[in-house]
Amino acid sequence: MKITPIIGLEVHVELKTQSKMFCGCSADHFHVEANTHTCPVCLGLPGALPVPNKTACEWCVKLGLALGCSINEQSFFERKNYFYPDLAKGYQITQLQKPFAINGKLTIDDHEIRINRAHMEEDTGKSVHVDGSTLLDFNRSGVPLVEIVSEPDIQSAKEAKKYLNKLQQIIRYIGISDADIEKGSMRCEPTVNVCIDDQFYTPLVEIKNVASLTGVMNAIDFEINRQVKQFEEDRQQKNSSNKTTRGWDADKNQTFLQREKEGSADYRYFPEPDIPPIIFSKEKIEEIQKNLPKLPGVKISEYKMLGLSDYDANLLAEDKDFSEIFDKIISLDNSNEFAKFSANLLLGPLKIIEIEIEKINPEYFKKLFDKKSELSSTVIKQLILDSYQSGLDPLEIAQKQNLFQISDTGALEKLAKEVIETNPKAVEDYHKNPLAIGFLVGRLMKVSRGSANPQSGKEILEKLLK
Ligand code: ZN
Ligand code: MN
Repeated sequence: MKITPIIGLEVHVELKTQSKMFCGCSADHFHVEANTHTCPVCLGLPGALPVPNKTACEWCVKLGLALGCSINEQSFFERKNYFYPDLAKGYQITQLQKPFAINGKLTIDDHEIRINRAHMEEDTGKSVHVDGSTLLDFNRSGVPLVEIVSEPDIQSAKEAKKYLNKLQQIIRYIGISDADIEKGSMRCEPTVNVCIDDQFYTPLVEIKNVASLTGVMNAIDFEINRQVKQFEEDRQQKNSSNKTTRGWDADKNQTFLQREKEGSADYRYFPEPDIPPIIFSKEKIEEIQKNLPKLPGVKISEYKMLGLSDYDANLLAEDKDFSEIFDKIISLDNSNEFAKFSANLLLGPLKIIEIEIEKINPEYFKKLFDKKSELSSTVIKQLILDSYQSGLDPLEIAQKQNLFQISDTGALEKLAKEVIETNPKAVEDYHKNPLAIGFLVGRLMKVSRGSANPQSGKEILEKLLK
């Protein structure tokens, strides 16, 4: 039996604007006393009028552009009607026919995942279940939300994870949300079905309540297996676009039936009469496009052109601040050799500690690079760490601790003579067995406090002992 999973992802991202989507209330709702960030608009009181948040709309367009979408120059909001206790108005203001952004894509390992749309909407309040009763907190009601809908182009749980990671990275790069799945500022609903033997399609299932990346992967894998088994039993196939909603139980590691879903017509969508259409001029869209930061994909290819490995390039581009400091460092010297040298230090000794980016001084990388022939690689690693921790110039530290390698033969010879004079027993041993030179090299390293080049030290000792 040939099984081809068909997976689409609906992702909701809460924007970190100061105020809410349609009122002036603070959009901050984490760790805030319940119902303190509310007003007649976000409580849905009769007669209250929504005023769209300009920054939120621009950020939605910004994300659309970062995802390669086309931007609708004219879009409008619509009401999506449904009843739920945490939705005080009885409808959500969202976009259906004319979203801000359409037809984008994200490429995962050379596989293109089409993005249907990125539209603007508002979050709902929160139901809090306490001792058998349900309390409502409207602090989250009206927080700006962008919904990013992919086409069902994803073919495995692993690819879904990569897609989410990449989306999350782009969102963080452009600074519109912290996109934290565990915290709930990024929420993801996979839609899954399976094509069997290239001819049968199992019924569509949308999975809700997935609260972690691992959860997303486990839920998708569980659902693929469940649907294949179900099909073997009842041979039931997908009809029209009807979806069943199943919840994810992370403890039992399985999905469970929630409801047979209504089609979208049941939401009785209609244009929001209280908000005029939103216009983004060509000039405005171009301006937003121009102000987009360099995105991770572009950075990765630039780093690879500097001769860095795929692995290193990805690590460096992973975090925006981290890659920015790397960019600053390599702006001091445009050789590939310097890029490699700096990447090794950033991803080696510095990456393993919890670094504060602001404490990194790009100049120190350049200084060490210029003196690298006089310092051993172990010493360089230690110096970058010490200078990061103390803020001191690494070359000054090297000077003070005598860490420069003695390449000057005269100075080395003087030390070597001293070692030979003070270790007559070892010299005797050496004449019986040349391997005993190791001990003398060790002494030489010690008296030079590590700054002798071991290879040239050995050669000089051998020369003198002849
Ligand atoms: Zn409000
Ligand atoms: Mn939505």
